[in-house]
Amino acid sequence: MLANSPVESFSFAGREIFLKRDDLLHPAFSGNKARKFAYFLDQEFAGVTKLIGHGSAQANSLYSLSALAKLKGWQCDFYVDHIASQVLTLPTGNYAAAIANGTNVIDLSNLLAANTSVQAGKSDWHCQRYIEQRVLPAETNALFIPEGGRCQYAEYGVSQLAAEIETWTMQQGMTDLKVFLPAGTGTTALFLNQYFMRKQSDIRVFTCAVVGGDTYLRQQFDLLNPNSAEHPQILNADKKYHFGKLYPEFYAMWQRICASGVQFELLYDPLGFMVLEKFLPQWGASPVMYIHQGGLLGNETMLPRYLRKFGRTR
Ligand SMILES: *Cc1c(COP(=O)(O)O)cnc(C)c1O
Repeated sequence: MLANSPVESFSFAGREIFLKRDDLLHPAFSGNKARKFAYFLDQEFAGVTKLIGHGSAQANSLYSLSALAKLKGWQCDFYVDHIASQVLTLPTGNYAAAIANGTNVIDLSNLLAANTSVQAGKSDWHCQRYIEQRVLPAETNALFIPEGGRCQYAEYGVSQLAAEIETWTMQQGMTDLKVFLPAGTGTTALFLNQYFMRKQSDIRVFTCAVVGGDTYLRQQFDLLNPNSAEHPQILNADKKYHFGKLYPEFYAMWQRICASGVQFELLYDPLGFMVLEKFLPQWGASPVMYIHQGGLLGNETMLPRYLRKFGRTR
């Protein structure tokens, strides 16, 4: 149902790269979460009336699950460990858009405080365990999607993305394409590279760890596919960065790439392009594609933080 995002030419670091515009996949359901959740969009789920997920109250996956539920005509319950007070006072970004889609965002810390039967050892309850033990047994019409879409079902939609890229290179008569994308759980990068290798394609996938370090990312790859020969290649930044923190070099890179007229997001793309710029000179004339993985709603929350910290011009 959702497929064939456009490929554009993009000028970066003095050369041409290709940009796979997965941010344009669908007006309401786009980016890599849409690819990861595409399985649930395309499949029939007889008797299901509700989607249950969990994660952070600002996550791209919260918004994407709310959009998926809306497209399917399902209710959506999304469990979070807590909701920061400024999010409740002034809802923006993914949180606000998910609420507008009718998603019920459930603060587990509130729920536990109100429920004496689970008070004992309440610090031990994290969302996934709580949902599995306390919620799902009573919700017989619910479909549960674990955090961020990090599971095998993501292979379905990510393989579709890989097939689109493969078809595009054939139409272009292109060989040895290098595909680059920044990774969180690494699910998207892993299933892309696995597809190309199993198809004996000459396309290869490169990524960088934005959440956690290289060791964490390798562990995530192993969980999805223990055959490390099929893993994407991990490239490093010169420095260690913490996920969600604000860095002047991220903001500067974001301004540079957005000056092209394409909007990028502020959590993954700045580090992605910094790492890409570092490795591009080693890749000679090989064609390079960057995957725009969406997530732009998050800017509504991130940009005011950057503006407060570093100002408008720099
Ligand atoms: C979720 C997300 C990622 C990370 O995807 P993984 O499959 O977890 O590696 C990267 N970019 C954006 C914009 C995202 O929303």
